[in-house]
Amino acid sequence: MSPTLLARAKVQQLTPYQSARRIGGQGHIWLNANEAADSGKFNLDCERLNRYPECQPPQVIQAYAAYAGVSPEQVLVSRGGDEGIELLIRTFCEPGEDRILISSPTYGMYAISAETNGVHVVDVPLTAERQPDFDGIIERLDEVKLVFLCSPNNPTGDLVNRDGLLRLLNAARGRALVVVDEAYIEFCPEHSQAALLADYDNLVIIRTLSKAFGLAGIRCGFTLASPEVIGLLLKVIAPYPVAEPVAQIAAQALSEQGLVLMRNRVDEINRLKDELARSLLQHQQVREVFAPNGNYLLVRFSPGSEMFARMSRAGIILRDFASRPGLSDCIRITIGNRAEMDAVLNVLQKEQ
Ligand SMILES: *Cc1c(COP(=O)(O)O)cnc(C)c1O
Repeated sequence: MSPTLLARAKVQQLTPYQSARRIGGQGHIWLNANEAADSGKFNLDCERLNRYPECQPPQVIQAYAAYAGVSPEQVLVSRGGDEGIELLIRTFCEPGEDRILISSPTYGMYAISAETNGVHVVDVPLTAERQPDFDGIIERLDEVKLVFLCSPNNPTGDLVNRDGLLRLLNAARGRALVVVDEAYIEFCPEHSQAALLADYDNLVIIRTLSKAFGLAGIRCGFTLASPEVIGLLLKVIAPYPVAEPVAQIAAQALSEQGLVLMRNRVDEINRLKDELARSLLQHQQVREVFAPNGNYLLVRFSPGSEMFARMSRAGIILRDFASRPGLSDCIRITIGNRAEMDAVLNVLQKEQ
C-alpha cells in the first residue's frame, strides 16, 4: 500500500494552504504576502545554543505584555500567529464533533487549521457592507466553539464594528470564544480591542511580529487572552515552540528602540499607502480601492486578470483574490518601499 493510502482520510482529501510563498511567481518585486520591505538589524548571542530554550521566554512575554497593555499571564508566544490559531482549535475543538465559525472572505488559515485537525467550519459570510453578520453569528453560537473575526480583515481591510463585537461577546459568554485577529493592528493601533480583555474572559486576540515589525522570517506571534485561557493553551503547546535566536530577536524588536523603529516603519507604510490609494483612483482601470487599514490595499480593477498578468510581466508579484465570493477582479497589493510602489504605478500608467 502506498504511503498516501496509509495517511488519514482527511489528510488525503486536503489541499494545502496556497500561501503566497507556495504560489510563488517569477519576479523581483514581491508584494503578495504583506511582508515588510525591510527587517532591521539584530544581535545574536550564540553561546547558549546547546541548551533547550524556555517554553515561554520571560523577557519576550514581559516586553509584549507591556507593549500590548496587558499582564504577562495574559500573553502566550508561539511560532507565528498561525500557531496561536491552531493551538486554539486543538485546545477547544474535539475533532469530528466541534466547529469553528468564520466570516468569509477572510484569512485562510482558520479553515485550513480546522480542517487539518478534523474540525468543521461554519461560514457566515460578511454582509454587503463587509461587516461580520453579527445577528447571523449569534444565531449559530451553540453550534460552534470558536468564532474567528479578523480586524483589519485580510484581505478586505475592514475593521470589525465595535458595537457588533460587544453584542457578540455578551451573547457568547459561557458558550464560545471570540477570537479577534489583530495581525495588522499596528497600522491603526487606535482600533485595537485589547482593552476589552479586562471585561471579557471569552475574548482572544491574535498578534504577530510578521507584519509591522518586519519579522515574518523568524516566525513569532502572540495570543492575548484571560489567564485561564492562556493556561489551557500552555497545556497543549509544544515544549520548545520558540527557538533561542527567535527569542533574542523578538526581545530586541520589542525594546523601546525596537518599538520606535516599528512605529517609524508604520508611519512610512501608511504614508505610501495613502499616496498609492490616491494615485490608483485616478486610473480608469481602477474601480474600487478597499479600506486602507493594514499594510496592503485590496483593489478592484477592470479587468483584474489582465492587470495581474501585466504586473506579473513587469516582475511584480501580487495576490489575486478574484476567485473569492464578492471579490471578482480584486487584487491585493502589499505596501512595499517607495521604489516598489512607483513600479506598480508605472505599469498602470504605461499601458493606459
Ligand atoms: C499574517 C497573518 C497572521 C499570522 O502570521 P504569522 O506569520 O503566522 O505570525 C495571522 N492572521 C492574519 C490575518 C495574517 O494576515
